[in-house]
Amino acid sequence: MAEVIDGKSVAADVVSKVKALTAELSAKGATRPGLAVVIVGEDPASQVYVASKSRTAKECGFHSLQHTLPAETTEEQLLKTIGDLNADPSIHGILVQLPLPSHIDAGNVIQTIAPEKDVDGFHFINVGKLGTGELETAFVPCTPAGSMLLIQRVRGKDLSGLNAVVVGRSNIVGKPMANLLLAANCTVTIAHSRTKDLPALARTADILVAAVGRPEMIKGDWVKPGATVVDVGINRIPAPEKGEGKSRLVGDVVYAEAAAVAGAITPVPGGVGPMTIAMLMANTVASAYLAAGLKRPSF
Ligand code: NAP
Repeated sequence: MAEVIDGKSVAADVVSKVKALTAELSAKGATRPGLAVVIVGEDPASQVYVASKSRTAKECGFHSLQHTLPAETTEEQLLKTIGDLNADPSIHGILVQLPLPSHIDAGNVIQTIAPEKDVDGFHFINVGKLGTGELETAFVPCTPAGSMLLIQRVRGKDLSGLNAVVVGRSNIVGKPMANLLLAANCTVTIAHSRTKDLPALARTADILVAAVGRPEMIKGDWVKPGATVVDVGINRIPAPEKGEGKSRLVGDVVYAEAAAVAGAITPVPGGVGPMTIAMLMANTVASAYLAAGLKRPSF
């Protein structure tokens, strides 16, 4: 049976390192890290994510600011809020919770965030830095950054010569994941909905990352024996066995089947999920170190 990669425990390690780095920063007399989370409208799932981000920021000892704007906020008003946060020296990270209401151009909003405060890593400057291997100063999107830490816990930092297959090519997960693996010397293939014979391709992977959003699409016989499997997917499916109207979370991989073949695997929940918020904290503390003219801490 595969080693289970415990994302909860790795995320807790990251958060405790962030706490220690925050304390060190204060001891040096620098401004403590400040994270501003902006949410527009009342999407219940977004409210839960934002509350959790703000809670973890406080736990890390950050200055944590939340702007909750009404659904009818105009794009101009939102851009003004971002402009104010860009100019505020007590803020090192700005996160705009997506999705935004349809009358607001999310792309335009993201490109308005100062790149040095773009702790989500979605600004073109940070995307470009990651693409060109400027990892010392790039902010990398939190989910792939967290997935990479999990992979490195199992495989070490240098992944030279390993074949990696990333299933999914989104800007938030698949593409940055592929770039991180490439920077770590993997031979990387990105698969997507038009890929031919995905099972055969997946079977070439020493590292298989699933970021599709299709419940249990990847079967056990798609997995190379001994592979490291990272399941980014979070899918809610009906679970009548738990009672009427009940549901449960599954990944993009058939966990039990894959775990019987893989060398290591992330569970869902409790794998990649907890890493996303932890890496947001890591990016924010890194931004505060850079703003203070100090060396960027590594995770
Ligand atoms: P997305 O933007 O919908 O992208 C999905 C990707 O999967 C696309 O590139 C799509 O290909 C590909 N795909 C769809 N059907 C496929 C198929 N049958 N075969 C091969 N590829 C297929 O999703 P995302 O934002 O990257 O998220 C992916 C999953 O990760 C979701 O379950 C999401 O909930 C989860 N997620 C988790 C976290 C976390 O914190 N753990 C964070 C973000 C996302 P095309 O490009 O050809 O359409």
